[in-house]
Amino acid sequence: MTTGTETDTVVRDLTALPKAHLHLHMEAAIRPETLTAMGDELGIVVPMIKDFDDFTQFSDTYRGMLAVLAREENLYRLIDESLEDCAREGVVYVEFGASPQFYTETFGSAEKALEAMIDRCRTTGDRLGVEVGLMITVDRTESVADANELARLAAAFAGRGVVSLGLANDERGNPAERYEEAFRIARDAGLLSTPHAGELAGPDQIEAALDALGADRILHGVTAVQSAELMARLARDGICLDVCPTSNLLLSVIDEIDAHPLRQLLDAGVRCSINADDPILFGPNILAEYQLARDVLALTDEELAACAWSSVECGGGSAALKERAKSDIAAWLA
Ligand SMILES: [Zn+2]
Repeated sequence: MTTGTETDTVVRDLTALPKAHLHLHMEAAIRPETLTAMGDELGIVVPMIKDFDDFTQFSDTYRGMLAVLAREENLYRLIDESLEDCAREGVVYVEFGASPQFYTETFGSAEKALEAMIDRCRTTGDRLGVEVGLMITVDRTESVADANELARLAAAFAGRGVVSLGLANDERGNPAERYEEAFRIARDAGLLSTPHAGELAGPDQIEAALDALGADRILHGVTAVQSAELMARLARDGICLDVCPTSNLLLSVIDEIDAHPLRQLLDAGVRCSINADDPILFGPNILAEYQLARDVLALTDEELAACAWSSVECGGGSAALKERAKSDIAAWLA
C-alpha cells in the first residue's frame, strides 16, 4: 500500500511560518561579506574563531567586530541588512541583543547610541514589516555598577523601543545573583527579564536566573534537561527557553547535534523558541535552525509551529503583532 496522499506528504514552507527571533546578538547578525568589506575599508582584520571551546577567543572576535562597527554608517548598514535577512526568513519580530555602551565614542554617549539604534530599527523595520524591540544586554564580565547603570538606561527607554534586559557572556565565575539589582531596576520599569543561563553552567544558574533575576525567558537554558524538577518548574511557569542548537554544538554545550535537548524540553512541556544566537560565528541564521530542528531533531510541524508561537507570545512585541501572528501560524498549520 502506498503511503502518502497529497495531503500527508505536503511539506510546509518554513519561510512562511511567522516567527520571532528572540536570541540574536546585534553585532553577530552582520553578513560575512559586509564584515569583510567594512574591515578592508578600515584596515581591520577580525580574527575568526578557530577553537570554539575557547570562550576567550570568542570574546576577542566579538571585540574585533565592534572595532569595525565603530562608524555610524556601518552600524546602520548592519541593522538594515540584518533586518532584511530576518524579513526574508519569515521573521515578524526581532528582539535584538543590543549593547549601546559599546558605541559611546561613536555617538557621544550610550544614551545617544541607543536613540540612534532605536530610530534606525524602527525606520527600517517599518519599511520591511518587521517589528523590532531591543534587549539591552549586560556583559556579566563587567562590574555590577556598570550593570546597574545600563539597567537604568534600559529602564529609561521602556516603552520607547527597549523591551527587555539581557545578561550575556561567560556564566562561569559570573553568577546571575550578582545582577539582582540591575534586573530589579529593569523589572520595576516593566521590562522583561531575559538573561542567558544554563548554557555553560548547570541547572543551578537557571534557578538563580529565575529566583534572583525574575527571568521571564531564559536565553539557552538547555542544561535544564539535567533536572526533571527544574523542567517541571519551567513548564508550570511557562518560562520560554530561547534555544540555539548550532551555537550549543559549536561551543561544546552538547557533543552531537542530534543529542540536542530541544526535543526533551518540548516533551517535558517546556516552551522553547528557536534562534541563531550569533550567525556570523556559527553559520546558520534562524531559518536554517528551524530546518535543522525539522530535519535533524525530527520536530513535527505542530512542534515547529508551537516554537514559533512561543517565540512570538513570549517576546516583547505588541499585542497587535501577537494577535496577527497567532492566526497566521494557525493558518500555516491548517
Ligand atoms: Zn547568546
